[in-house]
Amino acid sequence: MRKIIIAIDGYSSSGKSSFAKSIAKKYGYIFIDTGAMYRAVTFYAMQNGLIDSTGAVDTAELIKSLPQIKITFRYNPDIEASSIYLNGQKIDEQIREVTVSDNVYIISGIPEVREHLVALQREMGKEKGVVVDGRDIGTVVFPDAELKIFMTADPEIRAMRRYMELSQAGKKVSLEEITQNILKRDNADITRTVGPLKKAEDALSLDNSNLSVEQQMMWVSEKIDKLIK
Ligand code: C5P
Repeated sequence: MRKIIIAIDGYSSSGKSSFAKSIAKKYGYIFIDTGAMYRAVTFYAMQNGLIDSTGAVDTAELIKSLPQIKITFRYNPDIEASSIYLNGQKIDEQIREVTVSDNVYIISGIPEVREHLVALQREMGKEKGVVVDGRDIGTVVFPDAELKIFMTADPEIRAMRRYMELSQAGKKVSLEEITQNILKRDNADITRTVGPLKKAEDALSLDNSNLSVEQQMMWVSEKIDKLIK
């Protein structure tokens, strides 16, 4: 069977990761969560005092550190998905903290950080057989991906999903705080000059506000099956 690249772009908390994970599982593909990579660099910057509480970044120092920031994914049978490692330390939980979510748009707006991570993502996908989720996958990272999907969902629904996720993980955050964070990230993602969130011309739109994962899987499987035949 032919191996392809499936690029999934879209807004924050639009259900990209769950969808991408389900596709990867069904087709035996590798799931690459590029948002987790931007979060990992943000976490590194926070840990090393390269970003302060006002969001000011020591950009020169961060750029110098990029070669030392080793990001890897390793399959974790406990969660039936990949865990992300920063210089050998598993950081799945840390990168989902609200403080990281609040700062990630600042770090992801730095062109050199994007260049570095885009190169890493291309390397990870060079054998194909990957589902890659992010903001600029269909436009910048893999413009020749065989299947491109652009996901959207109403902001209130996205905020509620994130709220449920964090509450279930025992995190105390208000729905208002999450809504603000999502809107702020949407705005930063759309307006940044390098690799902004944008639907690729040849991407298929999927509004999953009222669709279950099963319904989304039926929709996408039909398309994938035709492409890999
Ligand atoms: O997907 P997730 O919400 O975890 O992504 C976190 C942040 O990383 C986004 O808000 C965005 O600023 C950044 N990002 C990006 N380009 C990507 C993936 C994520 O700029 N390809």
